[in-house]
Amino acid sequence: MKISVIGTGYVGLVTGTCLAESGNHVICMDIDGNKIDLLKSGTVPIYEPGLEELIKMNVAQKRLLFTTDMALAVKSSDIIFIAVGTPPGEDGSADLKHVLAAGREIGKHMNGYKVVVNKSTVPVGTGEKVRAAVASKTRLAFDVVSNPEFLKEGAAIDDFMKPDRVVIGADSPRAAELMKDLYAPFVRTGKPILIMDIKSAEMTKYASNAMLATKISFINEMANICASLGADIDSVRKGMGHDRRIGFEFLFPGVGYGGSCFPKDVKALVQTAKEHHVDAKVLKAVEAVNERQKNVLPDLILGHFHGASKKAAPPGKPLGKKTIAVWGLSFKPRTDDMREAPSVVIINRLLRAGAIVQAHDPVAIGEARKIFRNRVVFTTDCYEALHGADALVVVTEWNEFRTPDFRKMKRLMHKPVIFDGRNLYNQEELRKLGYTYYGMGRT
Ligand code: NAD
Repeated sequence: MKISVIGTGYVGLVTGTCLAESGNHVICMDIDGNKIDLLKSGTVPIYEPGLEELIKMNVAQKRLLFTTDMALAVKSSDIIFIAVGTPPGEDGSADLKHVLAAGREIGKHMNGYKVVVNKSTVPVGTGEKVRAAVASKTRLAFDVVSNPEFLKEGAAIDDFMKPDRVVIGADSPRAAELMKDLYAPFVRTGKPILIMDIKSAEMTKYASNAMLATKISFINEMANICASLGADIDSVRKGMGHDRRIGFEFLFPGVGYGGSCFPKDVKALVQTAKEHHVDAKVLKAVEAVNERQKNVLPDLILGHFHGASKKAAPPGKPLGKKTIAVWGLSFKPRTDDMREAPSVVIINRLLRAGAIVQAHDPVAIGEARKIFRNRVVFTTDCYEALHGADALVVVTEWNEFRTPDFRKMKRLMHKPVIFDGRNLYNQEELRKLGYTYYGMGRT
């Protein structure tokens, strides 16, 4: 099939590449000329495992091309995906200006029947707005479909190629059939393509992300209760997770969720509910718990250096010239995405308290530098960040941080203190080695 993808970010680029890989001819379009120039020159602007190789192969096979030319993208395609950003507006609701601008542009350049597929995460009812945006510029026939994306950054190719399910919201049988044909190669193992109405498809995406965010805030709250009671969240988590009704997924305490999806999608759903006179009490609490969670680790660090109890709130006093090593900056492993990363809140609190921060991340330093400039010392190696450090703070659970050489680390550090924001390490072993150890929800 002939496909265009409007918006060549994380979702658009992965979608376009994977659809090309399954034999379609795909045009990836973006208004950002720099991004398109980079892609044309063979440079992939984001870090996503496996993506660069797939792009190269499909470009070489002439199934994938990049352009800023909307007319070319629209005229050459039967199915046009909209995968532009939907950032939060001032009140938390999703800002649809990019989606609707793309809709109008598609309408302007239409030259025959098209299926316009909304892949961006958009509030319930946006399908109708996209239909109106396209129709405002054309009299030709088209259908609007909602096809929310569930990929995870860091595992995006696998998620797209082997989805748990494909959700299609369509009110036209013709469009639904085309979408089923398009996705057939990805569901050969029998995973379902779920056809539903457009509103339900739009809601499915928000409900899924809200559920996952709820699990994270729930376990973080349990961890905080454990810490105050003297219970150990790791034992509790295992005791819970073996119950098949609960399971282990998304049941790891940490430094709060971040990224470009959970924070904005939870906020947007709260706002959508409010507009329809529903008070989304659980979701508001999920958000509030997450905001608090990003400060749990800085509270522990400041408390430690001020000699306060682990459970005590931090004194407002400055930290002084302490050197703090930070491992992990991206909001999760295997991505360079720094959007809403908890590391930003944690590091800013340390900097405000007067600390010197030496940070390492396997791939996100370039993105992190845009945020912190020269306020943070970035190191190319995780051990280098430990030189003269008064403490190590582990923020993101990259695999390379899981089994470090603790003896070597102790030699490099000024003081052997670890704040383990992801409960990666065995606290008994570390204490035997002479470390002072703090975890999340551990005593
Ligand atoms: P992104 O910011 O990485 O990319 C969006 C791209 O759209 C940018 O390159 C931007 O230049 C381009 N763009 C904006 N307006 C345009 C226009 N009028 N015409 C052409 N291009 C335009 O965003 P993303 O992370 O890929 O997210 C896109 C959507 O997918 C969002 O709604 C997001 O919530 C959703 N989503 C994201 C993820 C994820 O993990 N990132 C997962 C599932 C769903």
